[in-house]
Amino acid sequence: MKILVATRATQGAKDNDFYWTNDGELVFLGFTCDRDLRNPEMGCGCGRSFSGVETGRATTTATVIESEMTREQFESTVEAKFVLDGWDAEFAGDAVDQILWVADRLPVGAIVERRLDEFSVRELVS
Ligand SMILES: [Zn+2]
Repeated sequence: MKILVATRATQGAKDNDFYWTNDGELVFLGFTCDRDLRNPEMGCGCGRSFSGVETGRATTTATVIESEMTREQFESTVEAKFVLDGWDAEFAGDAVDQILWVADRLPVGAIVERRLDEFSVRELVS
């Protein structure tokens, strides 16, 4: 299935880019604060970024890859991280649905950025 992972590719193309995740780390869409909901360019960056499942840190750039991982494996990875961080593991399924929905609509090799619910392709690497 197609999934999104963190990438350094195209970092710096936007002045407000940041990259605090590990390369190739699985990402999902984290919680968005009110400031970012009002204007993602002026907030903390959560409305412009993807959250790393492993580090819990964020990146403004992610890429679509084809993975051998199953949905169940992905969900249990996210669930384990939620439990570790003291969040409600029940939200893991929704977090996985959301990011897989996004990945499914993008081509493999796409370098993706985000502004709240809008996802755009910066570059397509084949
Ligand atoms: Zn924020």
